[in-house]
Amino acid sequence: MESTKPDTKPETSAPAPNFIREMIKDDMATDKWGGKVVTRFPPEPNGYLHIGHAKSICLNFGMAAEFGGECHLRFDDTNPSKEEDEYIKSIIRDVRWLGFDWGKHLCYASDYFGKTHEFAIELIRAGKAYVDDLSADEIREYRGTLTEPGRNSPHRNRAVEENLELFAAMTRGEFPEGTRVLRAKIDMAHPNMNMRDPVMYRIMNAPHHRTGATWKVYPMYDWAHGIEDSIEGVTHSLCTMEFEDHRPLYDWFLAQLSGVHRPQQTEFARLNLTYTVMSKRKLLQLVREKHVSGWDDPRMPTISGLRRRGYTPEAIRAFAERIGVAKREGTVDFAFLEYCLREDLNKRCMRVMAVLNPIKVVIENYPDGQVEEFDALNNPEDESAGTRKVPFSQVIYIERDDFMEEPPKKFYRLSPGREVRLRYAYYITCKDVVKDNDGNIVELRCTYDPQTRGGATPPDGRSPKATIHWVSAQHATGAEARIYDTLFTKENPMEAESGNFLDNINPESLKVITDCKLEPSLANAKIGEKYQFERLAYFCVDDDSAPGKLVFNRTVTLKDAWARIRKNTTGGLN
Ligand code: ATP
Ligand code: MG
Repeated sequence: MESTKPDTKPETSAPAPNFIREMIKDDMATDKWGGKVVTRFPPEPNGYLHIGHAKSICLNFGMAAEFGGECHLRFDDTNPSKEEDEYIKSIIRDVRWLGFDWGKHLCYASDYFGKTHEFAIELIRAGKAYVDDLSADEIREYRGTLTEPGRNSPHRNRAVEENLELFAAMTRGEFPEGTRVLRAKIDMAHPNMNMRDPVMYRIMNAPHHRTGATWKVYPMYDWAHGIEDSIEGVTHSLCTMEFEDHRPLYDWFLAQLSGVHRPQQTEFARLNLTYTVMSKRKLLQLVREKHVSGWDDPRMPTISGLRRRGYTPEAIRAFAERIGVAKREGTVDFAFLEYCLREDLNKRCMRVMAVLNPIKVVIENYPDGQVEEFDALNNPEDESAGTRKVPFSQVIYIERDDFMEEPPKKFYRLSPGREVRLRYAYYITCKDVVKDNDGNIVELRCTYDPQTRGGATPPDGRSPKATIHWVSAQHATGAEARIYDTLFTKENPMEAESGNFLDNINPESLKVITDCKLEPSLANAKIGEKYQFERLAYFCVDDDSAPGKLVFNRTVTLKDAWARIRKNTTGGLN
């Protein structure tokens, strides 16, 4: 897989190239569609939506909004055996959450089963469709190959009347599944395999989630999709590149029907992301085989997983805009998605102090029982966010990583004899290290300088090289923190010697820390709330939280991995 960088440099706000936007602008200028823009997002309800779908959603709804048009949410529910209401509910929720509105245009392909069936009869009457008795295997065999033409089915020249009767009998459920299909009569030698008499209808006895047992025949995607677009008055039918070879068929079907509206199909490249699988079948496998906790596991690339992880709709929309829309396939760095997220969280998140891996610090010369409150900035990026009070007392927790007994050269934080600044509070100096019988450090004994109250520089002008965060022990709120890494260890998870992508699952993709200490302002944090734990990462309150039990997901670290990648690459995308 070729690795491609997003179209724009992240520091510029210029819009990324989007050839569909240009096409629609031209269509508006030439009045091709009478000033109308009607798009649709047509998910098959057989799984949860993922970040790739988000690209399509942002494009379809985004273009409609930009040009004063409308975008329909249409469930492509033509396959009764695989679709479930759970998926429909999740898709509706996810598209809404992303910030889009279909107004009254919530549609189902199954709404048009009657009309689609009538159109099929019209094609039979015109001698352009026939019932074939060949089995699926035989049809495949007769189809030929890319280098060899196909052969005509022996049933291809059935009389119209016979075809009408057989199709009616198929529709009444008189034949078992797999015994007959309705096919378009196009050209078995056509260089485009899709045009070699494609199947339009198959017999299926499965009940449908909306039409129940009414139908015994179900239309194939290629046949149904254009009709759905046509009925809904879609102008721009936007789909991914794999449908490019289907476009002649899309056009052929609609050209055979008298007096129908004919939309324009345009294909764009799907989104691929490093360290991510995007196939619904593979995501389903991850869920079913319990490699993740569910569709909304925060490591999943699903919209529901990203939401639970702490992503915002704004960040996802900005990402979709900045990767642009082109025809050439590429893979976007996961670090770029995280970059867009970080940018958004930076603006909106309150800063708080939390210690993930605590070590106790006793400040020996601080009066026992005394509590002071310091003003802490809620968001240095946003003055209107104000300040809050953080309590300070004799015993505090600091991050274990912020202390080293034998510091290497460039380590400026706490170590024996060394002074550091406690954010918002005082300078402290480490006087002694207390260990248990096994030699593990259990406590640090420190002193503070009262002249440095609130971080003030003392009269002698001393200024420690490091500032660290802390939490007052007696005021701390306990919490669990779930620390996530990529779900796969490989940039391209599909690259596995065994051929099995599951071999690339990252065994360290989730680490749970159970005894974090948080500043007391977080005691009543609500599910979904997002914070920056100072110096650590962005975190959000997980759905598993309950009164008295706080669970935080690490959303994204503060380190900008994208900056490093950007520096090492020259050009842009495409
Ligand atoms: P499948 O057809 O294998 O079930 P799909 O990912 O194509 O999976 P659909 O429900 O058909 O799923 O997708 C709905 C729409 O989202 C389609 O128009 C499709 O082209 C688009 N889409 C799906 N995956 C991506 C992606 N990775 N990038 C951009 N658009 C995508
Ligand atoms: Mg699809």
